[in-house]
Amino acid sequence: MKKNLVLLGPPGAGKGTQAKMLVEKYAIPQISTGDILRKAVAAGTELGKEAKKFMDAGGLVPDDVVIGLVRERLKESDCKDGYILDGFPRTVNQAKSLDDILTKMGDGLTHVVSIEVDEDDLLTRLTGRRTCRECSAMYHITFEAPKKSGVCDKCGGELYQRDDDKEETIKSRLKVYKQQTEPLITYYRGTGLLKTVPGTGGIKDIFSSITKVLE
Ligand code: ADP
Ligand code: ADP
Ligand code: ZN
Repeated sequence: MKKNLVLLGPPGAGKGTQAKMLVEKYAIPQISTGDILRKAVAAGTELGKEAKKFMDAGGLVPDDVVIGLVRERLKESDCKDGYILDGFPRTVNQAKSLDDILTKMGDGLTHVVSIEVDEDDLLTRLTGRRTCRECSAMYHITFEAPKKSGVCDKCGGELYQRDDDKEETIKSRLKVYKQQTEPLITYYRGTGLLKTVPGTGGIKDIFSSITKVLE
């Protein structure tokens, strides 16, 4: 069965970690708006310069910008058998636009998986997160430490701490999540697509809970 998925959850819930495992299992692409935006920032494009201001402040990049990015990305041929949206939608307006885009393509979402983690855990996860510059794999200095400090196990790339993974910015991001993104849980519950899974415990156990709700 085709899987057009949305991974929902606060910053640090483990969306990226789980998305990468789902990519392997189902051979469908991960579409992370955060990764797309960070690439644009690193490349110094106009889009990147515009987005950086919002990202550094822990706010959301304007809806029309991210909606445009996702609309184009979904047209690519690797999305024809399904995809994993990670970090999009983040506002009810984005969710409604996504519905419109997919309807026009003669398609629709199949599952929305909400990964639930308590707020206290999120701060610890995000301050300890390290990200690979090359392949965007995620590590944690204590929970998921790389074999060699500062080096990606998968590709040998350099691990860095994201600018927005600093305590003050994290607090803004969590506030933005509560105000703008959490309402999506109710939105998707109303569509009947919502599945919730606990996001604490072993990464593999969480992955099993996710694949179970997808079968
Ligand atoms: P998100 O994409 O939702 O922001 P990530 O997948 O980047 O979240 O995970 C945030 C941080 O928490 C990373 O440092 C990651 O290694 C770590 N992490 C992910 N899953 C778990 C887990 N089940 N237990 C502990 N730490 C985790
Ligand atoms: P996390 O993994 O911690 O949830 P992301 O990598 O998804 O963070 O996003 C990083 C930043 O990129 C966000 O704080 C926001 O500024 C911007 N961003 C990513 N996705 C979106 C989106 N769908 N709408 C608006 N801004 C976004
Ligand atoms: Zn890497």
